[in-house]
Amino acid sequence: MPTGVYVRTKSWKHSKEWKNKMSERMRGKQYALGYRHSEEFKRKMSEMRKGKKPYKMTDRARSNMSNTHKGIHLSEAHKQHISEALKGKTPKNLALINSPNKKMGKNHWNWKGGITPFRTKIWHSSEYKKWRMAVFIRDNFTCQFCGVRSHMGLGKTVYLEAHHIKSFKDYPELRLVVENGITLCRECHNLTKHIK
Ligand SMILES: [Zn+2]
Repeated sequence: MPTGVYVRTKSWKHSKEWKNKMSERMRGKQYALGYRHSEEFKRKMSEMRKGKKPYKMTDRARSNMSNTHKGIHLSEAHKQHISEALKGKTPKNLALINSPNKKMGKNHWNWKGGITPFRTKIWHSSEYKKWRMAVFIRDNFTCQFCGVRSHMGLGKTVYLEAHHIKSFKDYPELRLVVENGITLCRECHNLTKHIK
C-alpha cells in the first residue's frame, strides 16, 4: 500500500511532433475521438448486452479502491494544482441542484425551515447528553410506556431514547429540564412521533 507524500517534480508535455503522430495513427480508428460506430456494430453490441446486468462495482472492488487511497497525503502544491484545475468548472451535480423540480431543501415536503444544523448542534452537546442520562437514571433505564428494560438474556437489544413530553420545538426553555423528559424504548418513541 503506498503511503507518503507525492510530489510532482516535473510537468510532462508531449512535443507537437509526437501529438501529430498520435493523431495520425488514431485517425479513423475505432476508439478515436469522434469516431462513430456503424449501425451494424451498435445493433450487435445491443444484442450482446441483452439480458445482462448493468455494470455495478462490487463491494470488494470498492473497498480495494478505498484502501489504496488511504494514507495518501497530497502536498499543498498538489492540492493547489487540483484546485486551480477545477476552477471555473461546473460540478456534475449542479444541474440537479439547480433544477426547479428538485425535491431538495425548501422544495422538499419535509423541509422545516433550515433548523437541522441547530438541532444537530444541541443533540451533540454535552448538556443534552447529560440531560438524557439524567432522565434514564431517574427512570431506571426502563421504558415508561411498555416497561421493557435492557438486560442480558433478553435476546434483543432495547434502544432507549429520551422523549420530550413538551415538544423540543415549541418549548425551548424545557429542552434540558429533566422533568420534561421521559425514557421510552425506540418502538414506543416512534409511536409518539405520529401523534400531533
Ligand atoms: Zn417501550
